[in-house]
Amino acid sequence: MRYLIISDIHGNLEAFEKILSKLNDVNADKIYCLGDIIGYGADPCECLTLAKKHFDCFLYGNHEYALFSPEYEEFFNPFAYAALEWTRGQLRKSDFDFIKSFSFMKIFDDFTLVHGSPKDPEEFYYIFSGYEADTAFRHCTTNICFIGHTHVPQLFTEGYVKGSYLEPGKFFLNRNKRYIINCGSVGQPRDGNPQTSYGIYDTVLKNVTINRISYPVHLTQEKIIKAGLPKILADRLIVGK
Ligand code: ZN
Repeated sequence: MRYLIISDIHGNLEAFEKILSKLNDVNADKIYCLGDIIGYGADPCECLTLAKKHFDCFLYGNHEYALFSPEYEEFFNPFAYAALEWTRGQLRKSDFDFIKSFSFMKIFDDFTLVHGSPKDPEEFYYIFSGYEADTAFRHCTTNICFIGHTHVPQLFTEGYVKGSYLEPGKFFLNRNKRYIINCGSVGQPRDGNPQTSYGIYDTVLKNVTINRISYPVHLTQEKIIKAGLPKILADRLIVGK
């Protein structure tokens, strides 16, 4: 099986459409989404509609969860909070109903999917370090776990102190080891590379491919400004921060 792994679209329609235009090349059996389809970007409804049409699995990101959990909003910085409230005003009743059907964590074949960490998925812990990954491994029942949330493509191997940054390309997985893998963010990369990021997991060849592609960032930026969202949300896209 070939799985397309997508995370953190964040209402960025141009980046999302760019990936959808590559679906024939990707040739995936299933498309799994790790959450944060909305938030920050100017096209939350359009992204939800396309996600519903193309994806086979939907998980809560913190931006979806916060819509229904006022107590969680306090963890948002002022820009994220402004975007959350703007997004809430855009969504249709059908969007809220759709989002309510999302899961916190899913297990397929030999892998787990979760937005933050398999340790208390509804807490949305970040996994940046080997220490954080170590805790996550102890709460994961499969050999492989795909995560999102940090917007940085990274790979952690159980037993190793440090994670490694994932450059674009293919990574072969050892069947006797355990991994936590972040395939990066579609709509708001934060690794200094503004290109959209996604992953493909091939269970037969036992490898993960990270692909990065350019998309018309300036169009996304113009939409964010025009919508009255904080300007920093447009500025950060071009630098990938
Ligand atoms: Zn996110």
